[in-house]
Amino acid sequence: MPDRSFLAWPFFDPKHRELADNLRSWSDSLPARTNDLDADCRTLVAELGQAGFLKLCVSDGDRRPDVRGLALARETLAYHSALADFSFAMQGLGSGAISLFGTIEQKREWLPRVASGQAIAAFAMTEPAAGSDAANMQATAELVGNAWELIGEKTYISNGGIADFYLTFARTGEGSRGISAFIIPADAEGLSVAERIDVIAPHPLARLKYDKVRVPADAIVGEPGEGFRIGMETLNLFRVTVGAAALGLARRALEEAIAFTRDRRLGSGTLADNAVTQAKLADMALEIDAAALLIYRAAWQQDVGGTDNRRAAAMAKLYATEAAQRVADAAVQLHGGAGVTRGVKVEELYRDVRALRIYEGASEVQRQIIARDLLKEAR
Ligand SMILES: Cc1cc2nc3c(=O)[nH]c(=O)nc-3n(C[C@H](O)[C@H](O)[C@H](O)COP(=O)(O)OP(=O)(O)OC[C@H]3O[C@@H](n4cnc5c(N)ncnc54)[C@H](O)[C@@H]3O)c2cc1C
Repeated sequence: MPDRSFLAWPFFDPKHRELADNLRSWSDSLPARTNDLDADCRTLVAELGQAGFLKLCVSDGDRRPDVRGLALARETLAYHSALADFSFAMQGLGSGAISLFGTIEQKREWLPRVASGQAIAAFAMTEPAAGSDAANMQATAELVGNAWELIGEKTYISNGGIADFYLTFARTGEGSRGISAFIIPADAEGLSVAERIDVIAPHPLARLKYDKVRVPADAIVGEPGEGFRIGMETLNLFRVTVGAAALGLARRALEEAIAFTRDRRLGSGTLADNAVTQAKLADMALEIDAAALLIYRAAWQQDVGGTDNRRAAAMAKLYATEAAQRVADAAVQLHGGAGVTRGVKVEELYRDVRALRIYEGASEVQRQIIARDLLKEAR
């Protein structure tokens, strides 16, 4: 049982504590994994929708998604299953632009289906030659008659192959102010999955090809040229929650390490009786608490603080994901050979946490955000 004392922190309202309890009970009976990754993800989205948890991922009228709720949900789900967290998170990231910037009609068409789990969402920004440097994307969208026509490629797109729509960013002009955002249904003619990508912690991931994909003029989200800002604001909202997922993985790694070291015989006692082990466990707990404080501070700032919290969100994502990797690594080390054995939970956690340091702004990019903000303030 992970440490739950953080729920008493002043960042939370009673509804958050209730949510954490409900999700924890629900997560105890997650559907068993099968050999079909796509089917597993579809099941998870459907069940999260039926249980009502996906409502957290979308705006409610003018109310933006509650970041503390999202973060608590991701932490709790990731503790139990990285795939469940993934399925939850992508519903938010993929529909985030619609929640934040969509028209009433776009919200009405897509958000109820995302919230019920009937439509699977995806966020398509990265290209083979433009990852961190997203402002340099090459995919284009041109108004031909009364339809937008998209040409280009997107890669590393989560839910690629199983999504019902791809929130796609494409160039309608020059520079970062020449990017626009579009809702592209998965069955749009000319859109295809060019390649499925297998990563160390598998989830549906693909390279997509847009070959003169035509969508109606009203498929654009926001105004032409606003796409980059829309993308960055969506990422900013969800960045803290990536840290929260890492926190859930780290808490689980510590739990596993405590259970294993208390059980493992060493001389006349156990591994947990050893001072070197205890120092490791203490460092793991310290990193977890520091990550949790940064995450829930940033989430609180976003929900109620009323401040531009880009720096706090970047700090939370950077620290929590890097710390989770160190915690998972320590847990593997404490398990000895068992730690690198397939099927042992800490081996899975070690792989699960790795990509979180890369996507939605790699650690190097988060450092850049923090430093630029500091330097701007010092001017
Ligand atoms: C599992 C997974 C899921 C993903 N899901 C999605 C998705 O759903 N939608 C989507 O659009 N994208 C997705 N991505 C893509 C992800 O956002 C990119 O991989 C990420 O932005 C990095 O881009 P890149 O891979 O092109 O690496 P690059 O940008 O080429 O970076 C390579 C290295 O250079 C460093 N670097 C880059 N710029 C700088 C700089 N200015 N200063 C210092 N160092 C720098 C990076 O930090 C990194 O270490 C996913 C990626 C992964 C691995």
